[in-house]
This record gives sequence, C-alpha cells and structure tokens, in this order.
Amino acid sequence: MSYEHELQVLNPATEEVIATVPAAGAEDVDSAVVRAAKAQSGWAALAPGERARLLRRFAVAVDEHLEELAQLEVREAGHTIGNARWEAGNVRDLLDYAAGGVERLTGRQIPVAGGLDVTILEPLGVVAVIAPWNFPMPIAAWGTAPALAAGNAVILKPAETTPLTALRLAELALEAGLPEGLFQVLPGVGSVAGNALVEHPGVAKIVFTGSTPVGKQVLAKGSALLKPVTLELGGKSPNIVFADADIEAAAAATPMSFLDNSGQDCCARTRILVQRSAYDRFLELLAPAVESVLVGDPADEKTAMGPLISKAQLERVRSYVTDDLKGICGTAPEGPGFWFPPTVLTGIEPHARVAVEEVFGPVAVVLPFDDEADAIRLANATEYGLSGSIWTRDVGRALRVSQAVRAGNLSVNSHASVRYWTPFGGYKQSGLGRELGPDALTAFTETKNVFISTEGPAQ
Ligand code: NAD
Repeated sequence: MSYEHELQVLNPATEEVIATVPAAGAEDVDSAVVRAAKAQSGWAALAPGERARLLRRFAVAVDEHLEELAQLEVREAGHTIGNARWEAGNVRDLLDYAAGGVERLTGRQIPVAGGLDVTILEPLGVVAVIAPWNFPMPIAAWGTAPALAAGNAVILKPAETTPLTALRLAELALEAGLPEGLFQVLPGVGSVAGNALVEHPGVAKIVFTGSTPVGKQVLAKGSALLKPVTLELGGKSPNIVFADADIEAAAAATPMSFLDNSGQDCCARTRILVQRSAYDRFLELLAPAVESVLVGDPADEKTAMGPLISKAQLERVRSYVTDDLKGICGTAPEGPGFWFPPTVLTGIEPHARVAVEEVFGPVAVVLPFDDEADAIRLANATEYGLSGSIWTRDVGRALRVSQAVRAGNLSVNSHASVRYWTPFGGYKQSGLGRELGPDALTAFTETKNVFISTEGPAQ
C-alpha cells in the first residue's frame, strides 16, 4: 500500500499528538473498491437471516468495546465522556436496528393483467461514506449500518482529524465475522481520498456529511456520473421561545441546545428567537444557566463541554466574536487545548454575519420577535433548514409553526432532533435526501420491476 501523506491526530484538550495514521491515496481507493466489490457479491448472496445475524454480532462487539471506543473519542475529538459513551452506544443501536431491517426489506406486488408484477430491491454495490469530525462514530454508522444491511459493501472515509474510532470499528467488524473487504476504513485527505471515492466509477453511491461548499462539489462530481448522492450539510437552527411557553423550562434547556459538543453540531440551536414580552425574563434566567456550564477536561464525568476540535476551528470561531459584541459569556480553561467559552450575543442585527453563518462553535445569538408571523419570518430567514425547536403551551401554535418552518427536524418543547429510528435530513442548503428512520435501508437499493406472464411463452 502506498500513501501520499500521514495524518497527525491531536488530542484537542492538550494539543498532544496521540497517533499518526497513514493517509490513503487514489491508488489505495482503487484497490479498496476492488476488494469491496468482491466482498459485496458474497455478502448479497448470503441468506438475509445470516446477514442480520452477522450485523447483530457486530453490534455486540461494539457494545463489548463501548468504553474503549468512548475513551478513544474523548482523546481524538475532545468529546465529553458522557457524550462519547452515547455515541458508541448509538453505533451499536444503529447496527441492531439495521439488522432488524434485513428480513423486512420487501418489494411490492402490483396488480397487472396477464401475469404477476413484482418489485425487487437490489443492493447498489459499493457505497462510500464520507464523514465529518464532529460526530465521527454516529455519522459513520448512519450510512454504514443501513448500507450493509441492504447488501452493500461500504468504504468509509473519516475526517482527517478523527480517523481512530472509525479504524477501531473496522477491526471490530472483522472480529465479529463480517467478510474481509466488506467494511473498509480509508483515512485520508478529503481532496485526495474523498475525491477519489466520489469520482470512482466502481462506487455506486456517496453518502456525504460535512460542509455545504464541499457537499455541493461532491454533488456536482457525483451527478456527472449519475451517482446517487445523499448530503447532510450545515445548519443555523432556530430555538423559538413564545411568551406563552414555560419560560423557566425553555431557559434551562437552552444552554445545551447550542453548547453540546462545544457547538460543533449541525443541529445546534444557535439562533435563539424570543418573543419580546418574555425577552428580559428569559435572558435573566439564561445568563446563570450559561455561566454555570462546566467547561474543561472532557474525560472528567462532570464536564458538560470540552474543547473545539482544532486550532483552525478555534480561529474560525474567534473571528465571529469581535470585541465590540455584548452578551453572556461563560468560562473556559486557559493554556493548551482549543478552548472557547460558552457565548450568547445580544443586540445583534438579524442579518449580521454571526446571526446568519454557521459558526460551529459554542456561540448563539438572541433575537427578539413580536408575534407568530414575525417568529416564522425570522426562523426562515436563513439559507439553512436542518432543525429547530418551538417552545409554547399552545398546541395549535406548535402545529402551525411546525408546518411553517422550512426545516427537516423540528421539536416542540424539546431540543431532541436525532433518533436512529426517525428520519433525519435538511431542507434548503442543509442537504439532500434523508438518513435514519424506517426507510434507511431502501435508500441503499435499486428498485427492479419484474413482470412474469401467466399466458405462457408466445407461440
Ligand atoms: P468538510 O466538508 O470539510 O469535510 C467533511 C468530509 O469531507 C471530511 O471527511 C473531508 O475529508 C471530506 N472532504 C473534504 N473535501 C472533499 C472533497 N473535495 N471531496 C470529497 N470529500 C471531501 O466538513 P467538516 O469541517 O469535516 O465538518 C463540519 C461540517 O459538517 C459543518 O458544516 C456541519 O454543519 C456539517 N455537518 C452536518 C451534519 C448533518 O447531518 N447535516 C452532521 C455533522 C456535520
């Protein structure tokens, strides 16, 4: 195997190099595709029950190594240990859920004259999953688990900064008995290994999660080859608080709705929209809640928020929070590590850069609104449409606003937007296609229609 680069993996809480990983080049992608195609034909030919059994064994292997995977994610991504355990558990659950779908992946029988018409859902072949660094394990598994369950092989390219848990998952798959070559992890530079996967004629589908500009390039290159592409991209999601809401509960839930994973979450509720009559009270409650968020060593069980992923990300976040801005500011450690304090900005114009662009850090803006129509207008005043929350005690209003906000994942009196058994994806510049949920496996199949004549062979 030849490599063009090496990837250095840093612990973002200490800036220490914790591993050096060879980076795949285009020729490594070529040989991985050959291996994957070979493994895929055998995998697709297995009895569905056998494929399901192997995926469940993979889920068990992940469960048995949950703590090890979680500790690795703390070190390579700076995730808090509580989050990292949830993330490893999410991989296990996704594999289990997908395994349950193997024997339920049914086609249809459609009434026709003179025979029988059936649809058959066939695997696509080799699927490439290109993952970002913000949730290395869950996002890798969102594409991988249903693709494997539907009979495909998967080549996963993790982000440059976070290849370690993905590599460990590939080892666990082999230990669980998945065939060699069926699930391969190729760490590498996006413009090299990622691009080679997108352009490879032997890769049938691309599942991309990452930034909107790169997603658009992937779509353009994929469509030149008529390749299906799923895109999960950025967000600038609203947290809409009406005056008739339980303001105490809304304020208490707000900090972690944009600080979880240090704000490096595509669903982060970074635009807090508060009805003017409740604005002062809400801020009065929000300030101590934000200031008391414990930021520090992600390995410590008590920590609520860890560092940002990298120096580049820290500089990006800093560029949005200029000295002239006002608001609420929490605390963060000094010294080595990529630390930024929880920050809520007030007095911001709705069209200011920090109010419309995805910061991808622990920074939110609070904007007042007058009435329901104004709230909907502000909520939709973004190029993104991924998530959002609506806080109100009025059920009719909750439904009206849910219908009017152009986003793929909304929650009422809650900030929960990701469950592996419900569909997830974005409107507008937030993406294309859906992942997760009951139809996840179908997205990794081609539909073939077969008509069988009952008239006998033509004479
Ligand atoms: P990124 O777009 O820079 O990289 C994402 C992945 O694409 C990485 O693996 C990278 O190596 C690869 N890549 C880069 N250039 C490529 C190219 N030319 N061809 C093929 N692959 C290439 O994004 P990032 O900085 O790693 O992730 C942060 C972004 O991801 C944020 O904008 C965030 O909102 C988004 N995100 C979205 C979701 C979602 O589900 N909607 C989830 C998590 C993150």
